[in-house]
Amino acid sequence: MVIAHVSGHARRAGVRVGETLVSVNGKPVADILDVRYLTYEKNLTLELRAPDGDARLVALRHNEGSDVGLSFENDIPGGGQTCQNNCVFCFIDQNPPGCRESLYVKDDDARLSFLQGNYITLTNLTERETERICRLRISPLGVSVHATDPALRIRMMRNKKAGECLSLMRRFAEAGIFLNAQIVLCPGYNDADNLLSTLRELQTLGEALISTSVVPVGLTKYREGLATLRPVTREDARRAIEAAARFPNVWCSDELYLRAELAIPPAEFYRDFPQLENGVGMLALFRDEWENDANSKRANTVRPYKYSINDRPCTIATGFAAASMLTELLIPFPNVTVVPVRNHFFGDSVDVAGLLTGGDLLTGLQDKALGEALMIPSTMLRRGEDVFLDDMKVSELSDKLGVPVTPVEPNAEALSRALRIPHER
Ligand code: SF4
Repeated sequence: MVIAHVSGHARRAGVRVGETLVSVNGKPVADILDVRYLTYEKNLTLELRAPDGDARLVALRHNEGSDVGLSFENDIPGGGQTCQNNCVFCFIDQNPPGCRESLYVKDDDARLSFLQGNYITLTNLTERETERICRLRISPLGVSVHATDPALRIRMMRNKKAGECLSLMRRFAEAGIFLNAQIVLCPGYNDADNLLSTLRELQTLGEALISTSVVPVGLTKYREGLATLRPVTREDARRAIEAAARFPNVWCSDELYLRAELAIPPAEFYRDFPQLENGVGMLALFRDEWENDANSKRANTVRPYKYSINDRPCTIATGFAAASMLTELLIPFPNVTVVPVRNHFFGDSVDVAGLLTGGDLLTGLQDKALGEALMIPSTMLRRGEDVFLDDMKVSELSDKLGVPVTPVEPNAEALSRALRIPHER
């Protein structure tokens, strides 16, 4: 693994950028997990190879378990494993044609689960990899379960190796690994009694199972040639919420509550929000933070509210899913208009803000009076970039709409900050 940055103990020991870390204490390193595991010990001998091939050993001493100060050009040399499944509900298969290559990548790598919180299916694990996960205690591990019944899981994932999920999870639990489970609810497949039996069987994992989420299948307009699936209805969503309520540590996504036309539960319901990244509890957390923030400010100020975009008119664009709650929270701010935007890129049934494109925003907003600023959730942009999913840049949208566009992190504090900052073009 080629070293990209050196700091702390590694720098003091004389490790250099550009060298390759070959082994630690005589044990070869294949990826970042090996590095983290092997550098846990107090006394280390690093085998390094310079770009010209010269090898050397460097001794290093640090506090047991502390960071030695090494980062690498690539944490997983050779790239992560890709998935071997052909799930009936795969969202990637439903992407419009002609998008960037990265939108079609199907990764399914336990290392990415540990490093980035991705959910994996366990269908491509060899015995050696399973044993390595147990030995290195890669924890917590996120598992896309969908169904515990082997035949049903095989049918949903169209992979004959998909039947082993629960036994593998049991093996990980016995090795001291904590697990988070995810279920994509597909009516006609894993709903109703099948959902109940999956949730029941998952309980057998005991305390190793931190959380289980149930999220509705996402269906775009690009399903030609794909398996027949119907969207989750109001009744399906209600039944799933009732089923989840019968078991501890099982939460349904915000989208399911909206589909069920039921109130979003209070923030306490989600405890420490173990599956926020799956859209579970995001709305409750936002509402809670917003209201607490507003209340504390109200108590300390003569002005009724803390915000001051100088009372100039401005617009927040979002998906239909979050629009009504946001509108309600912003009632005290008559200068702020919340506009839900329709998704033409993926189709009407996709209503989350994160999948809206620059083109959707342009179509949905071009005839509207937007005021002096337009705010959008930053989740609409590719991670770390100023670009929407359809490759439109934020600056391009701003030019076309004739208004400054500000991406805002999807949390109450960021929105409150954005509303206070004067927006200059
Ligand atoms: S595991 Fe299934 S849903 Fe995930 S990328 Fe692979 S085929 Fe698609």
